[in-house]
Amino acid sequence: MSKDYYKILNVEKGADQDEIKRAFRKLAHKYHPDKETGDEAKFKEINEAYQVLGKPEKRKQYDQFGSSFDQMGGFGGGMNWSDFMSQARGGGGGANGAKFDFGGLDLGDIFGDMFGFGGGRNGRSRGGGEDIQVDFEIGLKDVINGIKKEVELYKTVKCEHCHGNMAEPGTPINACSTCNGQGRVTRVQQTMLGAFQSSSTCTDCHGSGKKAETPCSKCSGQGVTKKKEKINIEIPAGIEDGSTLRLTGKGNAAPFGGEAGDLYVRVRIRSDKVFQRHGKDIYMQNNISFVEAALGGEIDVGTLESEVSLKIPAGTQPGTKFRLKGKGMPQLHGSTRGDMYVVIEVAVPKKLSRKQRKLLEDFE
Ligand SMILES: [Zn+2]
Ligand SMILES: [Zn+2]
Repeated sequence: MSKDYYKILNVEKGADQDEIKRAFRKLAHKYHPDKETGDEAKFKEINEAYQVLGKPEKRKQYDQFGSSFDQMGGFGGGMNWSDFMSQARGGGGGANGAKFDFGGLDLGDIFGDMFGFGGGRNGRSRGGGEDIQVDFEIGLKDVINGIKKEVELYKTVKCEHCHGNMAEPGTPINACSTCNGQGRVTRVQQTMLGAFQSSSTCTDCHGSGKKAETPCSKCSGQGVTKKKEKINIEIPAGIEDGSTLRLTGKGNAAPFGGEAGDLYVRVRIRSDKVFQRHGKDIYMQNNISFVEAALGGEIDVGTLESEVSLKIPAGTQPGTKFRLKGKGMPQLHGSTRGDMYVVIEVAVPKKLSRKQRKLLEDFE
């Protein structure tokens, strides 16, 4: 069956590698089987398309033969479509292959902010430390310049006594005798079909390949303890409500010398009584009197940083929007800023003096 990989990823034929990568991420997010909108068949298809289009070399071959490539008999050099696909899938490619090769993309990078944080990350050879997620609330004004804050977390950290090497200070550390310092043990199993070799993490040294003669007295040779730790969090200007920042290696430390987990900081932006954010623009309401509206004038308007004066032309109608250019939100990792819109409301007095009443009646 011929497939149009460009169509599958919803990109133009001339799309550059960045666009392809972005399109893939977006669709992979959407169709990942663990998600509500997930669709395993689609997810596989997207992955297949990305394995080809995401690699310039493979993409070139695919472009040359077009989507009817397989029907034409494949490569002249004796390579057929399934060979090509199996290579494109990173060698593993059975039809039911549950393993996806993300072509160098970090899985955590794609899915980290969407799916639960349980144990260690994919692809770690040794037990990793757990990831930690925290919520972090900031005000709308903090979004203008970004903000740095220190938070204190009670978490698993490297043992201070042994510095994580699991041995009582001053005592020797030897190579693990179970695995000969390899961290892995290989078993050979004899079966009717021949000898099978399998290798697994050494349970004696937990994969570190090292063994303390005298385990650390503070952490009982685990290499980690629990403790409060101060962590600096830097929130960039222009961040959106609900965004998640990832601090690699700032999660829980792993016992037995494994890799630390990551810290995920979900940023919440408090809603503001005065200013409403719509993407990069800010809206605010400003009340003027009906006399100001009719005669025009100058009013002071508080923006997110300062006060500016705004000229109101005579005959301004309720609901009129005035734009204050560049007084909105900064663009994330960018240099431009959105605008601020001042929406005019006209206040009608509830009570009038006798004189005011007379004047208005004359006006009518
Ligand atoms: Zn220790
Ligand atoms: Zn070992």
